[in-house]
Amino acid sequence: MSAVANLNLPDATGHFGPFGGRYVPETLMHPLQELEEEYFRAQHDPEFARELSYYLTEFVGRPSPLYFAERLTKELGGAKIYLKREDLNHTGAHKINNALGQILLAKRMGKTRIIAETGAGQHGVASATVAAMFGMKCVIYMGAVDCQRQELNVYRMKMLGAEVVPVHAGQKTLKEAVNEAMRDWVTNLRSTHYILGTAYGAHPYPVMVRNFQRIIGDEARAQILEKEKRLPDMLIACVGGGSNAIGLFYPFLDDQSVKLVGVEAGGLGIKPEMHAARFQGGSLGVLQGTRSYILQDEFGQIQSTHSVSAGLDYAAVGPEHAWLRDASRAEYTYATDDQALAAFMKLARLEGIIPALESAHAVAECMVRAPKLGKDALIIVNLSGRGDKDVAQVADKVGLQMPK
Ligand SMILES: *Cc1c(COP(=O)(O)O)cnc(C)c1O
Repeated sequence: MSAVANLNLPDATGHFGPFGGRYVPETLMHPLQELEEEYFRAQHDPEFARELSYYLTEFVGRPSPLYFAERLTKELGGAKIYLKREDLNHTGAHKINNALGQILLAKRMGKTRIIAETGAGQHGVASATVAAMFGMKCVIYMGAVDCQRQELNVYRMKMLGAEVVPVHAGQKTLKEAVNEAMRDWVTNLRSTHYILGTAYGAHPYPVMVRNFQRIIGDEARAQILEKEKRLPDMLIACVGGGSNAIGLFYPFLDDQSVKLVGVEAGGLGIKPEMHAARFQGGSLGVLQGTRSYILQDEFGQIQSTHSVSAGLDYAAVGPEHAWLRDASRAEYTYATDDQALAAFMKLARLEGIIPALESAHAVAECMVRAPKLGKDALIIVNLSGRGDKDVAQVADKVGLQMPK
């Protein structure tokens, strides 16, 4: 089969070519079908679109600016760099776009309880936020290691009225949190909607999350056309599960002149268990409901991963990215922990913007690419979130001290 990227995927079974699908226990087939049907009904309901748009504007604060990073551009001496400021959204990241869409769906389905998994805690905070706003119960599953390195977000979720359940199994990070959330969902199907936080998992989650996040790309496209009267040459976004990246990329898929660059977590370097770059040594497999590239050993056991950023620290990547990679429509590379930390400090000092460590991976790649492009080239970097949650960790890593 020749792979051609197109806007019409996934197919009716939730596949992007050989990727995606629905690989879950029998008990979850029905609720996923129900979710799919309700989602496709909502998609064609003007009232749903109106309600979503109302909250995105009034509550989230959209549209987010497309900001010309003048000093970063000057420093790097190449392409003109724009930042898509998802960090300015209410709650501090792009996750709220999806959480909002899904809770409106949950409300339509008569659900009263929300569960979610979280890595960096941003999706947990977004879910706890919309649950508070709609008066629903909320339980967040979070790896015990992530609870520790993202303490601020744990407190935020609790303040918002959510119950945070630390997960002590396995590596104590995102993968184990997803397992616990799925276990909860199976036992509380009638009352509960599972707000999955990225463009991953069983159909319809990858397509649904992409469509809730495509507002990033839709806005960016209109904004760059207004500011520069032309399309950008390159889009750069970090890739955890892949939702901020696919949200930015999707509205540009048919514009072949626009290069799409996804940046994974290179951690301590591309050696087994030292990174989370699924396209560097990952292989085809099934994990947590979908078929995609996965970091696994020769026996199919999931390998442990490492990244300085909790939000990118996951062994599998969203199926649409696997498809775009195989179709050569998007290119995937990685930034190491050290590169991300350097980019984090650089953006803070040059632009007065403290990015999330996840987003700093995209900035790091921009620092590599921009100088190689001419001054008339245009790059859009997705600033998926703000770095408040990361300041203690970064201060520690770069050796900042409290004044005495
Ligand atoms: C969760 C998160 C990510 C990674 O998730 P994607 O689904 O790949 O976007 C990236 N940046 C921030 C700020 C996040 O909170």
